Amino acid sequence: MARINNPMEIFKLLPGSNCGECRQKTCLAFAVAVFKEQKSIRECPYVQPDVISRYGGKTEKPNTIDEDKAEAVEALKRKIPSIDLAETARRLQAEFADNHLTIKVFGKNFHVDATGALSSDIHINAWVAFPVLNYILNGSGTTPTGIWITFRELNGGPPRYAHFQQRCEKPLKRLADTYTDLFKDMLEIFDGKQNKGHIDSDVSIVLYPLPLFPIQINYWKPEEGLESSLHIHFDSASDKNLDIESIYTMCEGIVAMFEKISLRHGLK
Ligand code: SF4
Repeated sequence: MARINNPMEIFKLLPGSNCGECRQKTCLAFAVAVFKEQKSIRECPYVQPDVISRYGGKTEKPNTIDEDKAEAVEALKRKIPSIDLAETARRLQAEFADNHLTIKVFGKNFHVDATGALSSDIHINAWVAFPVLNYILNGSGTTPTGIWITFRELNGGPPRYAHFQQRCEKPLKRLADTYTDLFKDMLEIFDGKQNKGHIDSDVSIVLYPLPLFPIQINYWKPEEGLESSLHIHFDSASDKNLDIESIYTMCEGIVAMFEKISLRHGLK
């Protein structure tokens, strides 16, 4: 049975004539009803038999985001046996010993063996494993330039920028506003470094999610009726070492980690 992830995929299979014979006002309304399993695709008399047999009159429920990420991680792990880990270690300025590639993730050791098995001193979830594996498989090994740019300026960043603000910068700002130990934890737990960069913010911290992929978090405290603000900046070579999907995923993962830590400590 084919997998359908959103109503538009069903809509594309329909004639688009809005004839109403399916008892829906439009083809789009019908597509939504099929996606919600309120209707069968067979109820449109104009759908071709091959489409009906492909979809069996039903669609599979889409995966949750967690399941999608876990599947993507497994697919990346399966690619590891096809690469030369010793050569990869040289390219990424990492270590290779006893058939294990070791790289620092937030300053902690992260090991990959030739079968794709992962082990680490830190908790490995899909939000970390996905970008780390992409970095190993596809990172160019480009040395950071020291020039900080926004997400929008990264290759592939503009179409995802609004999402990035919603899912990464805004939640992290909310945490910074309420969780007073946030930046202390970034320094201590994630081996962050305070930065006196060219960006004139109240707090400026550099984290190293990966050795060649630093990020800079800048926070401006609220003052005189002005809201606080927080922005995440990236080294201008970031997109040579990590694709935009992995950069986005890593930032979502960072936010999720700090949300968990702050809840555990009861938002001081
Ligand atoms: S019967 Fe088919 S073509 Fe007509 S409105 Fe419904 S989905 Fe569209």
